[in-house]
Amino acid sequence: QTTVQLTGRTRVITVSNQKGGVGKTTSVVNLAAALATAGARVLVIDLDPQGNASTALSITHTADTPSIYDVLIDEFPMADIIQTSPESELLTCAPSTIHLAGAEIELVSQVAREHRLRTALETYVDTVEDKPDFVLIDCPPSLGLLTINAFTAADEVLIPIQCEYYALEGLSQLLGNVRMIQKHLNQKLRVSTILLTMYDARTRLAQQVADEVRAHFPSEVLTTVIPRSVRVSEAPSFGQTVIAYDGQSAGAVAYREAAVEIIQRENAAASKEGGA
Ligand code: ADP
Ligand code: MG
Repeated sequence: QTTVQLTGRTRVITVSNQKGGVGKTTSVVNLAAALATAGARVLVIDLDPQGNASTALSITHTADTPSIYDVLIDEFPMADIIQTSPESELLTCAPSTIHLAGAEIELVSQVAREHRLRTALETYVDTVEDKPDFVLIDCPPSLGLLTINAFTAADEVLIPIQCEYYALEGLSQLLGNVRMIQKHLNQKLRVSTILLTMYDARTRLAQQVADEVRAHFPSEVLTTVIPRSVRVSEAPSFGQTVIAYDGQSAGAVAYREAAVEIIQRENAAASKEGGA
């Protein structure tokens, strides 16, 4: 078990990519579980109406469950909707419900519509006794008001990239959106991390895509790559992350290594800044 030093500051990371099926939700829940395994307190915010992150963490999200919809639309306190995952005391989740599908439209007419999540999250972090070390936000695959709320609430963007053909398609649009958010809504937002997912070491294409992404983003891409693995894809049907479902599998090992990297890179950056 790797022990890691946490900064004591809450890092808010939104996991985003306008392409669907690239491993956003899978990375959110497995990184969250891996970070919790490393001793970090983690809050997952499920901002996708599909609710797949809530499902994978075994979090109740039936239509009548208090959810992130109530936080965004009716200004419920975040503390009132957060549930703890059966996997770990350190792993909590703000669930999504089916109602969130309507929020995209309902938000349009609301005051401070882009800042709703940020305000709720700041209040939560300021008042809760056990502050999360990490908040991971699972975004839907579109640039609507839900994703804009995530970008406005976050300090960092983590982009999962699937090691397949067309991997880089849409990436420049995503980076353009991040710049637009930086300019108008959230100056501190930055793309801190790129995670290569569904890597198949047997194909030359995966290697080529990985090389190309590393050439473009030498300091953002994690050294760890997530392999394509059946254990990763079957874990959610048991309401588990792969960390709990099969902790020795290659996917679980990779997600734990990625989590340690995410913690340690930030520590390295912080000590550099401090002139240490
Ligand atoms: P997104 O949230 O970006 O739409 P998902 O995380 O839901 O993407 O992943 C899309 C599909 O790919 C899911 O069926 C998931 O189980 C599968 N998947 C994700 N990562 C892996 C992996 N490392 N190995 C195998 N299957 C994966
Ligand atoms: Mg998803």
